[in-house]
Amino acid sequence: MHLDQQTIAVVMMVFFCSTLIIAAGLVFALRASEAGRLWAFGHVLVSAAGLALAISAASGTGQLGTLGALAFVAGWLLIYRGVRVYYGVPAHPAALAAAGVIGLGLTAATSGMPDGQQVVLRIVYGLLALVSLGTFATLARAGRGRRSIGAPLVLVASLVHLATQLAGFSHAMNLPVAGGAGAAPLTLFFAGPVGSAWLLAPLMATLLGLFGFTVMAMEQIVAHNESGARVDALTGLLNRGALEMSALSLVARWQRDGQALSCLVIDIDYFKQVNDTFGHHAGDAVLREVAHALDNSRRASDVAGRYGGEEFCILCPHTDEQQASALANRILRKVRAIELPAGRGHASVSIGVAQLRGGPGSKEALWRLLFADADRALYHAKEHGRDRYVLASSMAAPAAASASPAPLLEPEPDLAG
Ligand code: GH3
Ligand code: MG
Ligand code: MG
Repeated sequence: MHLDQQTIAVVMMVFFCSTLIIAAGLVFALRASEAGRLWAFGHVLVSAAGLALAISAASGTGQLGTLGALAFVAGWLLIYRGVRVYYGVPAHPAALAAAGVIGLGLTAATSGMPDGQQVVLRIVYGLLALVSLGTFATLARAGRGRRSIGAPLVLVASLVHLATQLAGFSHAMNLPVAGGAGAAPLTLFFAGPVGSAWLLAPLMATLLGLFGFTVMAMEQIVAHNESGARVDALTGLLNRGALEMSALSLVARWQRDGQALSCLVIDIDYFKQVNDTFGHHAGDAVLREVAHALDNSRRASDVAGRYGGEEFCILCPHTDEQQASALANRILRKVRAIELPAGRGHASVSIGVAQLRGGPGSKEALWRLLFADADRALYHAKEHGRDRYVLASSMAAPAAASASPAPLLEPEPDLAG
């Protein structure tokens, strides 16, 4: 099938009008994701550029075609930058802007020449092929091993774009030099006998890419919301709901493989005094520091969360009570190093340690049993002087397993009295 240039221009106008409207809507819909915003803006530019090229081809306006070609490059550079931002690889905005400016300068310098349009086409197709190659390489390298529905669609789309742009580049290289006076009109690659076979490929790839990028941005927004719902905003540890979900799955694993599972319940000592003496902001800062100390003491497989208020919980799979007591000691040491404001002593915590020893039962009941054992041990640690841990198994004769307790605040007449 061989379509004439006017028909192709009309098809392109309808197509890019539609993608322009969709992409403009996506600027709002994806605004919560930085990469999503870049992709949406990029597609707005690419669609506007496609429209300009189509109008230029239909009307023979060379300047509009040049402008469209440049907007095309700028749009794809934005999309490429979005891919790098998405995967957290350096986006090099200055280098991308420099590439755009060089392209613009070259195009402006050559567009007035007799065969300027052909040179513009060569530069633009060359730049587009480079950008598509960069997009494809980043997607293939950074996206490897990540589960995504959108990324493979975008990968295929950028491969098709790359192939089309290389074909366009070789077409532009083989165009006869116009010579003589006046600039030659822009001839669309797709209007030629070779190019018309390619017409559907970039249009389908643009649609596929637009859809794929939208899915990727939505995946990122959903993942971000999910992690926001699981994480305690003040400390960055899991919140109580997420901690209990993890606890239930660890108990279920314990039921399957019988490997030891231990639990530490940790409570900051005399925390109310910290708030009362130094204010809630200072109290929040101490909470964050204690949470940081817990997070730095645990193993990667342990699960740490804020159970509520100034109480934390750490679940340790494949860990018996004795091994968990080593973690408790590490935590005690690290928390004792946290200074309170105004040089008024150091923070401390009390810890209850328990190992799951229940018989048959639901995982909910076993988790309640494990937590209650650790909580009872914590109560004993508080009763026996604080700044220490107590093992649930040793509660008949409560163990003061650590060094002698340090007072939370240095005695002051107003506090001690
Ligand atoms: P104990 O050694 O017996 O645990 O004494 P405590 O003062 O730590 O315990 P208490 O339960 O009397 O006080 C806990 C305090 O923790 C009271 C509450 O205002 C404070 N608290 C709970 N959540 C937060 C928070 O998010 N930020 C701040 N700044 N304080 C909090
Ligand atoms: Mg407390
Ligand atoms: Mg408490």
